[in-house]
Amino acid sequence: MVRVLVVGSIHMDLVVVLKRFPEIGETVIGRDFKMTPGGKGANQAVAAARLGAETYMVGRLSRDFFGKVLRENLKRNGVRDEFVVEDPESYTGVALIFVDAKGRNMIAVAPGTDARVAPNDVDCALDTLGSVDAVLLQLEIPLETVTHAAKRAKEAGALVVLNPAPFKPLPEGIYRHVDVLTPNEVEARQLASRFGEYATLRESCEVLLEKGLSAVVVTLGPKGAHVFSRDFEGLVPAFRVPVVDTTGAGDAFSAALAVALSEGMSIEKAVVFANAVAAIKTTRLGAQEGLPYREEVDRFLSERGVKVG
Ligand code: ADP
Repeated sequence: MVRVLVVGSIHMDLVVVLKRFPEIGETVIGRDFKMTPGGKGANQAVAAARLGAETYMVGRLSRDFFGKVLRENLKRNGVRDEFVVEDPESYTGVALIFVDAKGRNMIAVAPGTDARVAPNDVDCALDTLGSVDAVLLQLEIPLETVTHAAKRAKEAGALVVLNPAPFKPLPEGIYRHVDVLTPNEVEARQLASRFGEYATLRESCEVLLEKGLSAVVVTLGPKGAHVFSRDFEGLVPAFRVPVVDTTGAGDAFSAALAVALSEGMSIEKAVVFANAVAAIKTTRLGAQEGLPYREEVDRFLSERGVKVG
């Protein structure tokens, strides 16, 4: 069993479905409401745990109602929560999401304790665990903590996977502590633009690779993912599925890629596996509830005659 550490955000999504968005000062009565556990960190942790990895989470929750609910949710999904710090100095993070009749959204995020995840939280986990196979990172917690986590994880010999979302400019020095970067196309181009002007996605990814990465895996939605690495370069096409909800597909993809690479799959096979996990997720509602278990992924692949193991 591979051991994965996820360092990142944990918050509650509060979704109100409306006929139309309110104007300033106006109240609009909603048609529906849903409360779902979210945060890219938590989404990736639940994804890794459901795929069979021994999964630990580093993050912060307050001592409030959502903090309790979100901790329970992690545990129920098999995520080890002993390194999720209880931090009463702030509130547990929330995302307030309005969705209108056309399916468009407006989102306000109050990060609360997510903004307080500290380098020392990472040290506590890594010092206690000793060794982990992979460390998964995203950008909804302070950049200082992400950078520190990448450096410590790399020194400890773990595979470091960074999903650079939501986009933030990254310090040039972070790339030599990261093995695999999983941007979407927009993020890949934005990250490369710090170093110059590049006309193509390939040129953008090549400049990022030169900074010290082993691979850049660009997710391309319904097209799949394009791998840029020394061993393999090419598009790995997505699986064709009836799509219901793509929320959290990118999180599922990054987590699956980290688990598969830790299990020793080649980069090409690991991306096929990650495409399968993300595809299954898109056929179901919810960023976390929609995440598949390992047996479902194995069945999905064998039904299509695909071998990855
Ligand atoms: P993000 O939402 O982070 O920008 P993408 O939209 O690129 O991420 O999706 C991540 C992954 O999810 C893709 O690489 C692909 O494997 C899978 N995926 C997304 N949309 C679809 C789709 N319509 N059909 C099949 N797979 C999809």
